[in-house]
Amino acid sequence: MNAPNQSGWKPGTPVQDHNAMSGPDTVTGNRALMLEEPLLFEIGQTDTTGVDLPEPAGGPNRLGGMDRSEAIGLPGLSEPETVRHYTRLSRQNYGIDLGFFPLGSCTMKHNPRLNEKVARMPGFADVHPLQPVDTVRGALEVVNELANWLIDLTGMHGVAMSPKAGAHGELCGILCIRAALEARGDARKVVLVPESAHGTNPATAAFAGYEVEDIPATSEGRVDLEALKARLGPDVAAVMITNPNTCGLFERDMKAISDAVHAAGGFVYCDGANFNAIVGKVRPGDLGVDAMHINLHKTFSTPHGGGGPGSGPVVLSEALAPFGPLPYVVRTDDGSVQLVEEENAAEFRHTEAFGRMTAFHGQMGMFTRALTYILSHGADGLKQVAEDAVLNANYLLRSLDDLLDAPFGPSGPCMHEALFSDEGFAQDISTLDLAKGLIDEGYHPMTMYFPLVVHGAMLIEPTETESKAALDQFVSALRSVAERARAGDESLKTAPHYAPRRRLDETLAARKPVLAYQEPVAPSGQPTMSEQGGR
Ligand SMILES: *Cc1c(COP(=O)(O)O)cnc(C)c1O
Repeated sequence: MNAPNQSGWKPGTPVQDHNAMSGPDTVTGNRALMLEEPLLFEIGQTDTTGVDLPEPAGGPNRLGGMDRSEAIGLPGLSEPETVRHYTRLSRQNYGIDLGFFPLGSCTMKHNPRLNEKVARMPGFADVHPLQPVDTVRGALEVVNELANWLIDLTGMHGVAMSPKAGAHGELCGILCIRAALEARGDARKVVLVPESAHGTNPATAAFAGYEVEDIPATSEGRVDLEALKARLGPDVAAVMITNPNTCGLFERDMKAISDAVHAAGGFVYCDGANFNAIVGKVRPGDLGVDAMHINLHKTFSTPHGGGGPGSGPVVLSEALAPFGPLPYVVRTDDGSVQLVEEENAAEFRHTEAFGRMTAFHGQMGMFTRALTYILSHGADGLKQVAEDAVLNANYLLRSLDDLLDAPFGPSGPCMHEALFSDEGFAQDISTLDLAKGLIDEGYHPMTMYFPLVVHGAMLIEPTETESKAALDQFVSALRSVAERARAGDESLKTAPHYAPRRRLDETLAARKPVLAYQEPVAPSGQPTMSEQGGR
């Protein structure tokens, strides 16, 4: 890839004679160290094998009639072929260990190596959820200590540790709210969600059986308090508000919103995906929040997506804590950490739990990483993290807002992410074209077309760990692509030009994914499957 990180690089200086991808065609399709890689099925033969064990001889058949009736059809490869296949594929992937990741609504893109070291300690890595409690005291101590940090940092009353992602945490929080309402015989049916909300919010409310209604935003990109107050009433179960919100702005009226919702008998769900921007500075409990999920992969440095499972503990107010799911951990009077489950819930006076979110206790490997991160920073360090995240985002906002339209820029600083629109681009150039141009510059694109309240949205979120030099280099690349977008540079419409694959039909891929290998039956002259997917 064209990763522009040479020493001596100066902002704004285009790198000359560096375009190794634009030479003559090669026999192999490789471009120097960027190697082509077909599918496993296209390299391996189903009648070859990577092992040479003898066929098992005779003996009684213990398969009970479940013997395979036909060949399994997997391609056979030698060990080096297999290793090379996956290593080559990995080189076509972009990740946080390669370069800057401006994705918004993702928060931190930083996985400290210390986390990995601690999570791999056998005492944590090798525990099994069905082990007797007496043999996993240390692991329970970790869960309990992390739970206490989360409660302290948010100023809340309790926490459900078991949800396994932000969206799962939302469901947990809304189910707590539903249980609390049912316990008082109140059959409220509506959940209010702002227009700028992440899609998971309305999906969660609908999944839990509520009708979803939009709350309008002000021209400043925040919840319209008066419109919200006007809609509150005896049918409103809850509002779900993201703070800081997905326009990258702090909802300044949060306390007034909570007071109004509580006065109308409803509950306040806060989507805490953006907690990274305020951790150590603001305690959502002080703002009247009843339930909030914390994405450990967004605020406490555990890996995102394919890098590892998510984890979405939900902090709960005093009013909701009694309804939190089982199991959970508590420290008892004798100093030990106990596991509260169905069998002993009465003993701990926790009889109103709405049920369970998961079979076991949550993502142990993520708890270990998050606690390692928290302890390595301490409370003061976490506050510094929030300040640096906000500083970095504002540096990007002000380095770009003369060239890219920042709809909410004029109303003041942003939080941890900066939002731009496609206003000012030449007529036929879109946000997608700009994003593809950024790939040619060696950057993963920012979040696009979200939030929906801004046309052609580009949501850019650096990470607090990025240096000023890294931000400057990104600004320089993005400014250059933005200038081309404004000038109507046609070459943007066919970008990326230097990636291993050019423009793919992403909609077709999402709508009709080909998930199982099909033997190509193309008549001669037709492209094979690998050619169709390629350039
Ligand atoms: C990421 C995100 C979610 C969903 O979290 P997952 O852990 O991906 O399930 C919800 N709301 C907002 C604002 C987010 O950014």
